[in-house]
Amino acid sequence: MRIGVIGAGLGGLLSASLLSEMGYRVEVFEKLPFLGGRFTNFNYRGYEITTGALHMIPHGSRGPLARMLKKAGAKVEIVDSKPEGTALYNGEEVKISRKRIPLRSRIAFLAHCVKNWFKEVKLSELEKKLDDFSARYLRAFLGWSFSITPEQTTLSKIYPVYRSILELGGPGVPVGGCRSVVEALVEVIRSNDCEINRQKVSAIRKEGYGFSVHLENRTAKRFDAVISDIGHEETAKLSGLKSYAKLEPSRGIKYSIAVKQSFIDHTGVLFTLNTRRISGMNQVTNADPNLGKQNFLMAHQPMLTTNVRFEISEGLKDLKELLKGYDYEILAVQSFSDGWPVNRALAGSDIGFKTPVNGLYVVGDGAKGHDIEVDGIALGVEEVVEEIRKTL
Ligand SMILES: Cc1cc2nc3c(=O)[nH]c(=O)nc-3n(C[C@H](O)[C@H](O)[C@H](O)COP(=O)(O)OP(=O)(O)OC[C@H]3O[C@@H](n4cnc5c(N)ncnc54)[C@H](O)[C@@H]3O)c2cc1C
Repeated sequence: MRIGVIGAGLGGLLSASLLSEMGYRVEVFEKLPFLGGRFTNFNYRGYEITTGALHMIPHGSRGPLARMLKKAGAKVEIVDSKPEGTALYNGEEVKISRKRIPLRSRIAFLAHCVKNWFKEVKLSELEKKLDDFSARYLRAFLGWSFSITPEQTTLSKIYPVYRSILELGGPGVPVGGCRSVVEALVEVIRSNDCEINRQKVSAIRKEGYGFSVHLENRTAKRFDAVISDIGHEETAKLSGLKSYAKLEPSRGIKYSIAVKQSFIDHTGVLFTLNTRRISGMNQVTNADPNLGKQNFLMAHQPMLTTNVRFEISEGLKDLKELLKGYDYEILAVQSFSDGWPVNRALAGSDIGFKTPVNGLYVVGDGAKGHDIEVDGIALGVEEVVEEIRKTL
C-alpha cells in the first residue's frame, strides 16, 4: 500500500517513519529546502536558532512524542527539566508548586470548575478571582505555552492540558535540539527505503479508490491514502474542497539571546510575571551545552495586537529590564503568524485528523490529539496511523 505524505514537519515525518516501519511504501513531499518545518534548527554564529519551537518537548521523556519516537525506532535523547519551572515575581525567583498558590485561589479555581464546567466562560473571569501571583502566573503560563491570553480561552479547552501536565510532568529538551528529532525520523524513513522529495504539492485529486498527488514540476503520483501535514485549510485548498474548517491561529514572537553570564540556573522555564509581553524564558544550553557557544536564552511572548513592530518594541523593553546588568546580545527576533504561526489552532481548538474525503487525513498542528504542541501532534499521528492500519 502506498501512502503520500505532504509536508515534512514533525507530524508528516513522524507519520512517515511509523508507517514505513510497518511496511507501507511511503513518499514524503516537502516544498522548502530544509526538513522539519517549525521544529528544526540552524547554526547561526555558534547558536542553534530554531525555525519555531523553543527546543522543548512539553512532557519530555515521559510524553506521547517520546513514546512514539521509541515506537518508530528513532533514537533521541531527551533531558527532562528540573525543576519544571520557576517564576520571576516582584524581582524574586520563586519555585512553582501547589503550595505557592494561596488556599483562596485554589478554592476559587475549584469553584470555577464546578460552576462553569459546561459553560464557555473565559479564563479571564477566573483570573479576576485569583490572588496577584496566581493571576499573573496563569497569564504567563498561557502566553509561554500557547501564545494566548486568558481572554482567548476557556477552562474546558485548557483543562485536558492541565491534567496531562499533572500526569506526565513538564518539559524536556532533546539533545541536539529540535533538529535531532527530525534527523532521527528521516533516518528511519530512509532506512526503510522510503523517499523524501523536495517538491511542492500543487493539488490532491481523489481518483477511484486512491489519490493522485500533483507536483509543481507537472508530474503526478498515485497513492492509496494521503496524509497532509500542512493544516486543514491548505489541505482543503489543494484538494478543491470548500473550506470545511476555519481555525484561528495563535501568534507570537521569539527572541534568541546570547548571554555571557548564566541568567537561569536550571533546565526548566522561567516564567516572567511582571512584564509587558515576555511570558517566559529558557536557557537551553543548561540542558545541552552544544546548543550555543555561550549561554543561549530563548524568550517568548504572545502577540496582543496585530502591530508586529509595536509588539517587538514592548518585548525588547521587557528584555532590557529583565537582563539589566547582564552582558547579552539579541541574535534573532522572529515573529510567527499567518502561514507560519505558533499554532494553526488556538490551544484546545484542534479539530482532529478527519477530512470530508475518505483516505485523506490531516496531521500536525490543528489536528492534534488531547495534548499540547508536539506531544499533541504525536497523539494525532497515532490516531491516523491506527486508522490506516485498520482500513488499508
Ligand atoms: C515560536 C514558536 C515556539 C514554539 N515552541 C514550541 C515548543 O517549545 N515545543 C513544542 O512542542 N512546540 C512548539 N511550537 C509549536 C511547534 O513548533 C509546531 O506545533 C510544530 O512544529 C508544527 O508541526 P507540523 O507537523 O504541524 O508541521 P509544520 O512545522 O508546519 O510543517 C509543515 C511542512 O509542510 C511544508 N509544506 C507546506 N505546504 C506544502 C506543499 N504544498 N507541498 C509540500 N510541502 C508543503 C512546509 O514547508 C513545512 O515544512 C512552537 C512554535 C513556534 C512558532
